[in-house]
Amino acid sequence: MSEGYNPYQNMLEVLDAAGHELGFIAEDYIALRYPERELTVSMPVVMDDGRVEIFEGYRVQHSSSRGPCKGGVRFHPDVNLDEAKALAAWMTWKCAVVNIPYGGAKGGIKVDPTKLSENELCKLTRRYTVMIMPILGPDKDIPAPDVNTDAKVMAWMMDTISMFKGYSMTAAVTGKPLEIGGSLGRVEATGRGVMLTLLNLLEKTKRVTHGMTIAVQGFGNVGSVAAKLLQEKGFNIVAIGDATTAIYNPHGINVGAAMEYVIQNGKSLKGYQEDGHKIITNEELLTLDVNVLIPAALENQINKNNAEDIKAEIIVEAANGPLTKEADEILRDHGIIVVPDILANAGGVAVSYFEWVQNQESFMWDEDHVNKNLEKTMKRAFDEVWKVHDDKNVSLRMAAYMVALNRVVQAKKIRGIFP
Ligand code: NAD
Repeated sequence: MSEGYNPYQNMLEVLDAAGHELGFIAEDYIALRYPERELTVSMPVVMDDGRVEIFEGYRVQHSSSRGPCKGGVRFHPDVNLDEAKALAAWMTWKCAVVNIPYGGAKGGIKVDPTKLSENELCKLTRRYTVMIMPILGPDKDIPAPDVNTDAKVMAWMMDTISMFKGYSMTAAVTGKPLEIGGSLGRVEATGRGVMLTLLNLLEKTKRVTHGMTIAVQGFGNVGSVAAKLLQEKGFNIVAIGDATTAIYNPHGINVGAAMEYVIQNGKSLKGYQEDGHKIITNEELLTLDVNVLIPAALENQINKNNAEDIKAEIIVEAANGPLTKEADEILRDHGIIVVPDILANAGGVAVSYFEWVQNQESFMWDEDHVNKNLEKTMKRAFDEVWKVHDDKNVSLRMAAYMVALNRVVQAKKIRGIFP
């Protein structure tokens, strides 16, 4: 993360601007400038060689005004409390934009999971789960996968919670394997939501989709699925990249083959080859002359140092917080359309909500039902944001924040301030 960058500060500035646009006074939303709860935990783990290593982790609950807190768990060396606070707040706004009855949370462990054995990772996940368990539960706070966590990690978390409760508590975690209460369509949900968001935008702006070129930064769960589904819709995916390498192919990347390679190659694209491809840098990928750029990796990727060089006409924020506020302003001056994270990547939490509903009902939906409901949810949210963007002549980010903040503030007003 670049020096001096604080994602929570970034979030607060956009929040204040949205509050101002809505004509709110400070009292209307001041509580939302502070997370409800911040928990820092330290976790000793006996490593495979017998050493004891201490890891630090966090769980932040930003707001529970509209329902239980909901948000992912990230394993990454850059995880810190300010990042978890920002990500938790973005979850509050995201759930409100797509109008699902959740508040926002986020957590993570400061760790490079590629340096741990599976045994060490399992022990660390289980210890972390126990340390944050007092504030978890299907009606309190429901974790889900995020960067470097997946269905297997969710299974360990669900099992740990269930062991302590004495019964299988499927609704305690989402993004689980299908065998233990996961939902069909959940693995693809965030990438599918990104695809649907781009289609919704192109419909509104009356652009022809066929052959449009796209570069995707981040080739994990979200980036790879978005690339694959967009290719299936006729878009030309000319560049993909991850933390290890980036690849450019003007004739179109074979996304399916690249996904297969990543699975076989320890989740890394490094060494992937195909006819006509060229290795490029991460920075070159971001500044390619393409129609659409999809950042699907981490925060702060487009900032004041590279925003002037962005050539894409449209940016769809698949990652959380990939643009800094300064970059956002530069891109707006250049007429680049930015679809904000809290709308564009909300497909994941929408289907997590469907998974939680299925767990509560002890009933499994078929995949078509999940995908149709996701499409409906994303379309409704996009239309609502677009209307505010049009009526108030504000950016899509500002419009999304206005929709979200208004919903959360109304919920807070109806409930009142305790006591
Ligand atoms: P992931 O761990 O599956 O994939 C992350 C990808 O980003 C990997 O390919 C990794 O190599 C790459 N990456 C990491 N650092 C990079 C760098 N400096 N430059 C280029 N690439 C880099 O994670 P994910 O679940 O796909 O999450 C990606 C983003 O989407 C995150 O911002 C996450 O918060 C957001 N998100 C995820 C979900 C979800 O359901 N998984 C939902 C909403 C938002």
